Amino acid sequence: MANMDKYEAVIGLEIHAQLSTNSKLFCGDATSFGAEPNTHISPITMGHPGTLPKTNTKAVEYAIKMGLACGCAIAEDNYFARKNYFYPDLPKGYQISQHTTPICVGGTVNIQASEGEKTIQLNRIHLEEDAGKSIHDISPTHTLIDLNRAGTPLIEMVTEPCIHSAEDAYLYVTEVRKLVRWLGVCDGNMEEGSLRCDANISVRLKAETTLGTKVEVKNLNSIRNIKKAIEYEIDRLIQLKETGGTIIQQTRSFDASNDTTFSIRDKEDANDYRYFPDPDLAPFHLTTDYINSIKADLPSLPNELKKEWKDKFGLSEYDINQLTENKEEADFYIAWTAQTKHYKAAANWIIGPIRAYLNEKNINYKSIENVIPHLVELLDLVDQGQLNFSVASGKVFNAIIETPQSPTQFAKDQNLLQTNSSDEISGWVIQVLAANPDKVAEYKKGKKGLIGLFVGEVKKMSKGKADPKITTQLLEAQLSK
Ligand code: ADP
Ligand code: MG
Repeated sequence: MANMDKYEAVIGLEIHAQLSTNSKLFCGDATSFGAEPNTHISPITMGHPGTLPKTNTKAVEYAIKMGLACGCAIAEDNYFARKNYFYPDLPKGYQISQHTTPICVGGTVNIQASEGEKTIQLNRIHLEEDAGKSIHDISPTHTLIDLNRAGTPLIEMVTEPCIHSAEDAYLYVTEVRKLVRWLGVCDGNMEEGSLRCDANISVRLKAETTLGTKVEVKNLNSIRNIKKAIEYEIDRLIQLKETGGTIIQQTRSFDASNDTTFSIRDKEDANDYRYFPDPDLAPFHLTTDYINSIKADLPSLPNELKKEWKDKFGLSEYDINQLTENKEEADFYIAWTAQTKHYKAAANWIIGPIRAYLNEKNINYKSIENVIPHLVELLDLVDQGQLNFSVASGKVFNAIIETPQSPTQFAKDQNLLQTNSSDEISGWVIQVLAANPDKVAEYKKGKKGLIGLFVGEVKKMSKGKADPKITTQLLEAQLSK
């Protein structure tokens, strides 16, 4: 293990997120994943001479959405530049990217580290097009090229070099994935490459203020691998320093078969990409009104909901974190709590029986939205002691989800409502005490804890119908005779 008392790790992350638009950044070709290779490649994607690209405004809107959600400043004047280089899966010989004018500047993402909340500073979020894909593992002798992905809109989110552990990098990427999904701007699917991360890592002595030489690790296709690659690199770089080796600026790749990294190329200091504004694309100006209209449409963000639910509903940290993991679930909770005051109970129901039911049936929250009024009634029945929780979450819940109907009516029809009729409960109390003479004797000798056992027996005998409060009173009265 590396000596972290002496050294500090410095990490900056670049995340590429494919925007969930239907079509590409500069033409109408579809962006859907998994199509037959080279079927979404119009002459514009191929960069044929005489074709004219046109900017997809949805992609611009999505980039702004993400920027606003991260508190970035939105640049009003933008242009796209050509970044020139040769690569087999880059048919035009240049990538269209924003250069010195990223659409979103600065901003932050907060993470919940074990030591407390931390703020990760962003440098920028810019728009660019994706390249195609080179496939090395189909033919033993050839590299195959699929250009379907070429021209897909991406945002690239770049952090400042302000992350200091693999764990925080892990939390940051997790948070970004949650946020893009929350906003609906990217599906966040790392296995399909919709979200990709490059990690820049350096180490320095604790007292040092200048940055050390960095390495960049690419091809990190899961959040766990990002963490492993960074852990490995921190160890490796510190080892090099401790043994007097020299760190050279390199691009490295992660080998998931043994959790190590290997060098793919030494990086020259500055590549000259001969950037220049793309003459086929007009610079674009974003009006304040347009930016404000996107702001007005933003959904409540997890952090805002967290604060609201803590202050207004008094939910625990655990409940809040659970309910802000997934926007569909949060939306369901919001819709439900607009109609009930049993905030904590609704949270428990979602985290417990509702999730379990949706998982088992493989359905989503949208499909049970129409049941909310019946769920409101169900919480009231439990709260008023007319239904016990296990009957409510078992029989009654399933019935009202499968056929939306009043839980009160259903429970009445099925004879499931708890009774607070003393006569009825007394009958069960007497039977239970008569069946347990030994326990009754022990109770009378002072083992008062046995009351719980008697209540349980009455509950069983009544099939959950006996109101536990009245049961306890009647038992105590009977036992003190
Ligand atoms: P490049 O031109 O190599 O892509 P950038 O300056 O654009 O480098 O930075 C890319 C990422 O690397 C950013 O997230 C930045 O914070 C991070 N970074 C830059 N220098 C260092 C360093 N010495 N150590 C760790 N991360 C760094
Ligand atoms: Mg880079």
